[in-house]
Amino acid sequence: MSSIKDVDPQVFTAIEHEKKRQAEGIELIPSENYTSAAVLEACGSIMTNKYSEGYPGKRYYGGQENTDIIENLAIERAKQLFGAEHANVQPYSGSPANTAIYFALLEFGDTVMGLKLDHGGHITHGLPISFSGKAYNFVQYEVDKTTGKIDMEEVRRLALEHKPKLIVAGFTAYPRDIEWKKFKEIADEVGAMTMADISHTAGLIAGGVLESPVPYFDVVMTTTHKTLRGPRGAMILCKEKFAKAIDRAVFPGLQGGPHEHIIAGKAIAFHEALQPAFKEYAQQVQKNARHLAQAMKAKGFNLVSDGTDTHLILADLTNKGVPGKQAQAVLDSVGITLNKNTVPFDSRPPMDPSGIRLGTPAITTRGMKEPEMDMIADWLDRVISNIEDTTLHAKIKEEVKTMCLKFPVPGITF
Ligand SMILES: *Cc1c(COP(=O)(O)O)cnc(C)c1O
Repeated sequence: MSSIKDVDPQVFTAIEHEKKRQAEGIELIPSENYTSAAVLEACGSIMTNKYSEGYPGKRYYGGQENTDIIENLAIERAKQLFGAEHANVQPYSGSPANTAIYFALLEFGDTVMGLKLDHGGHITHGLPISFSGKAYNFVQYEVDKTTGKIDMEEVRRLALEHKPKLIVAGFTAYPRDIEWKKFKEIADEVGAMTMADISHTAGLIAGGVLESPVPYFDVVMTTTHKTLRGPRGAMILCKEKFAKAIDRAVFPGLQGGPHEHIIAGKAIAFHEALQPAFKEYAQQVQKNARHLAQAMKAKGFNLVSDGTDTHLILADLTNKGVPGKQAQAVLDSVGITLNKNTVPFDSRPPMDPSGIRLGTPAITTRGMKEPEMDMIADWLDRVISNIEDTTLHAKIKEEVKTMCLKFPVPGITF
C-alpha cells in the first residue's frame, strides 16, 4: 500500500487501523468473511479500468479479449460449483441482484411471498419501506412462535390464499436449514415461480454441508462475499428457460458496466471453492457453530429455535437483562464484533432489539476450532453477565487479542 500512503495518508491510516481491528478482534458477524490474498489482488487489479457492457462475445465496446476470458471462467465455475444451468456473475451486490430477479420475473404490483424481516428475512424480501415492498405486493410469512422455525403449513395456507406469482425462500437471520423441496411443492400447487436467496449459506451448500435449492428452484441468488468467501458482489443462477430474462434484467435492465475486477475475484473464489479444502472449511464452519451454540446454551443463553443447522446463531438476551444494542457496543469494546438483531415476536424496537446475531464463517477461515469456540462462549458470558465491569472488559480485551494473534487473517501482514 505504499502508493496509498504517499497519495492519501488519511485513507492509508484508516485502512491500517482497520487491518489491526480485523487481526486483533473476533469477527462473529455471520455475513462477513475474509477473502484470500488472491481474491484481494484481483479486486485491486487493473481490471477495474475496463468497461465491458454486455456479455462475453456480445459487448458494446472493444478491447474485450481479457474480460471475456475472465467472465467466462467465472460463469463456468459458478455453474460447476452449484450444478446450475445458467449463471450471471454481473450483479453488483445481493440487493440489486434480487431487484433484477423481480424485474425479470414480475410486473409491478404482482403478489410475492417472502419471510418477514424481523423473523429472519432480508429487506429485499418485501420490507414495506424497501423497493421490493413498494413495487410489489408482498405477503410476508413468519416463523412459528414456539419452535422458532418456519411453519411450512402456514406457508402453504398463505400461498393458497394469496396465489403469489413468486415465492421467495432463503434468509438473513434464520439459523435452521430450509425445506427447499417443500417450498417447491407448495409453489407448484399454486402455480408460483420459485426464488431461493442463499446469500448466507452458499458456501455451506457449495461445500456439501447443506442441501442445495438449485435442482428444484427456478432462480437462485447468492452474494459472493459471505460464506462463499469471495469478493463483495453477487450472482444469479437459474434454469435455462429464465436465462434470457435474467440476463436482460441485469443488463441493460438495471445495471450498466459490470465490475470486471470483482468478477475476476469471483472467478478465483469459485476456483477456491471447488477445491477439496473448501469442503473441510464448510464442514468446520457448521461444526464450530454447533459447538458454539451448545457452549452458549450451557452458559444459559436462550437461542432462537434452540440451536443451529448452519453457520448462524440468534440469541435472545431477554433473560440476561441486557438489550442487544448494549451487548453489541460492549462486546465491540473488547474486540468481539457481532450485531444486535431482532428476534421473532420481539417486544423491543428494531434499533434496540432483544437479540444478537453471530456466526462462524470468518473465525473458521482463520483456523479457529472447537477449543476457541469454548473460549468465545466464555467471553460472551463473562462480558454480558458483567456488562458494567470495565476492569474485567479491559482484561478480556487482552485475552481476545492474544488468542486472535495466533490465527492470522488471510491477506493481512504487518
Ligand atoms: C446479505 C443478503 C442480501 C443482500 O446483499 P447486499 O450485498 O448487502 O446487498 C440479500 N439477501 C440475503 C438473504 C442476504 O443475507
